[in-house]
Amino acid sequence: MSHESDAAAIEADREAFRSYLRDHNLPATAQRLVIADVVLGTDRHLSAEDVATEVKARGASAGTATVYRTLDVLVRSGLVVERDFGEGFKRYEASRGVPNHEHLICTVCGRVTEFRDERLERMTTLLAEAHDYSRQRHRLVIYGLCGDCRRGPAR
Ligand SMILES: [Zn+2]
Repeated sequence: MSHESDAAAIEADREAFRSYLRDHNLPATAQRLVIADVVLGTDRHLSAEDVATEVKARGASAGTATVYRTLDVLVRSGLVVERDFGEGFKRYEASRGVPNHEHLICTVCGRVTEFRDERLERMTTLLAEAHDYSRQRHRLVIYGLCGDCRRGPAR
């Protein structure tokens, strides 16, 4: 994706969040908007702590409770998805690209690699249909050892 379409997609997400707040009679506070900007404006998988740090770096301040509540609203709005990589805390990422990528996680160093595979898209559709579902989305996480960890420290 080019930077321009990224920017357009991010702006569309921000707009969608503002309408979600309006539609649910939730005040669009400066704190909520900056938290949304942080999560929606990156392709990274942020923890709540990462979000709080980034909010502070932007000269705003939001308590942990506000960060969690806002992340919760973002997840309910469908704009953000929650990820559990088994680290003992959740990570959050914008859902725009989510139906399109899966994750591999190294159980030693924690590296997260994204991939996309058409065969998997087709297979999950077939599996869903075989069980009388119409497929909307899925998530897959493959745990294993990354190449670096498998090969060990360079000699
Ligand atoms: Zn590794």
